[in-house]
Amino acid sequence: METNTANRNTQQAEGGKLYLVGTPIGNQGDFSARARDILDSVSVIACEDTRTSGGFLRNMAIRTPLLSYHQHNEHGKTPELINRLKAGESIALISDAGMPAISDPGFLLARAAHQAGISVVPVPGPVAAVTALAASGLPSDRFIFEGFLPAKKGRQTRIKALIEEDRTVVLYESPHRIVKLMKELLEHTDENRLCAVGRELTKMFEEIRRGTLRELYDEFSSRPKQKGEFVFVLAGKSYSEEEDH
Ligand code: SAM
Repeated sequence: METNTANRNTQQAEGGKLYLVGTPIGNQGDFSARARDILDSVSVIACEDTRTSGGFLRNMAIRTPLLSYHQHNEHGKTPELINRLKAGESIALISDAGMPAISDPGFLLARAAHQAGISVVPVPGPVAAVTALAASGLPSDRFIFEGFLPAKKGRQTRIKALIEEDRTVVLYESPHRIVKLMKELLEHTDENRLCAVGRELTKMFEEIRRGTLRELYDEFSSRPKQKGEFVFVLAGKSYSEEEDH
């Protein structure tokens, strides 16, 4: 455990390092003091959307220059960022919310940094998937994270593979497809299989619902409209609550 007081509360970014910095998934109180100090002291912050992150950073009184780095320009921008790192600049990568590289840009840059011998420093923050899993009351000792399923091509193949999974499965899903996902699962697996939905986690209208697939499908499909951000958690195929006391 870190006991050095100077390091506990403040940390200055060092040159030539890539910082992967987690930002809140809703509640701004989840932004860590260390994340703030690093973002305040790097040369530049790479972010998905300079307007979204600009507002957040202004609220946090961080005035570091921003540059745009998102899924449509990450291939082109990665060499430029690596050159700046090699020249000794410190760079932080953030995403719109949560941890970069988790269903967000980050993998390409972290890989390129490792390949170039540049230090990659994680500054962890909330991840919606792990937050929902922890709150789901479903087995969390072994789980798989599937990210977003494809919207069309390949979706059914993934669903058929996932329902055979013995570990808990964690998925991101859009509000437009969350009910469709439950319906698709019902077509292929036992309606009594346990699952959970984490909606708007850490935000004002946070909801964590847990029940059988049939119960949650009935509940969500009876709502006029699905709003907000969703994580879906599905218990492993062999998990039974009765046998598990
Ligand atoms: N990098 C992020 C992370 O660390 O969780 C994930 C980014 S991904 C583009 C966005 C998806 O994450 C949303 O569509 C939703 O499925 C999930 N998500 C993000 N924030 C959430 C929240 N507060 N509540 C529920 N789900 C959330």
